[in-house]
Amino acid sequence: MAEYSPCAIAGDEAVDDPTDLAKEYPIVEIFHSVQGEAYHAGVPHVFIRFGTCNLRCEWCDTDFLTYSTMTALDILGEVLRYDCKRIIFTGGEPMLHDLWPLHRLLKARSYNLSVETNGTIEIPEGLLDWVCVSPKDQMYPDVKIKQRTGDELKCVYVGQDLAMYDDLRQGFKHAFLQPCYMDAESIEWNGKNFAETEAVVKTNPGWRLSLQTHKWMGVD
Ligand code: SF4
Repeated sequence: MAEYSPCAIAGDEAVDDPTDLAKEYPIVEIFHSVQGEAYHAGVPHVFIRFGTCNLRCEWCDTDFLTYSTMTALDILGEVLRYDCKRIIFTGGEPMLHDLWPLHRLLKARSYNLSVETNGTIEIPEGLLDWVCVSPKDQMYPDVKIKQRTGDELKCVYVGQDLAMYDDLRQGFKHAFLQPCYMDAESIEWNGKNFAETEAVVKTNPGWRLSLQTHKWMGVD
């Protein structure tokens, strides 16, 4: 278990609920990096990657079935190692888990909390500071998107008609289209997707191009 004292950071006067500290989560990894894509590209964050997901997208680059069980205390101890006040809950699908215990522990220490979610689970009001929904209904047309509001909508482009997002887009401040990138495919295959996505963004006002720049940098 990670070592933690309530005074681990200067001026820390947070009083933690033992039940919150004991809450267990499946965690694939926790790491400090620069957000590579969409609105916050270039901004350092601590990424908390949760295990398990309710979908199985073919382009998924996360082994979300390989994880360790960590308590919220363990997670807090890990997060406190980094000089960074911005956290992204990602996955897998983070909204499969009750994030309120982590919210209370991290908000008591003034962290900014973001989530990247597939949108199939509605997010409680006030849980997060920034909501990025990346819907997968281009692949799972029968999966209902329940989280229909947020800060950014980030869609992987696989040739779908963008009219399918006309309604959903109304609930978001920003809309990003991202080329489908697969490590296992050739440079030509990925390059063609890049070119097609760029062309679609140029002819569809309101959409912005999102590139996974962290992959070019060779970081997570
Ligand atoms: S929703 Fe996200 S984490 Fe889940 S399978 Fe699809 S890409 Fe992977």
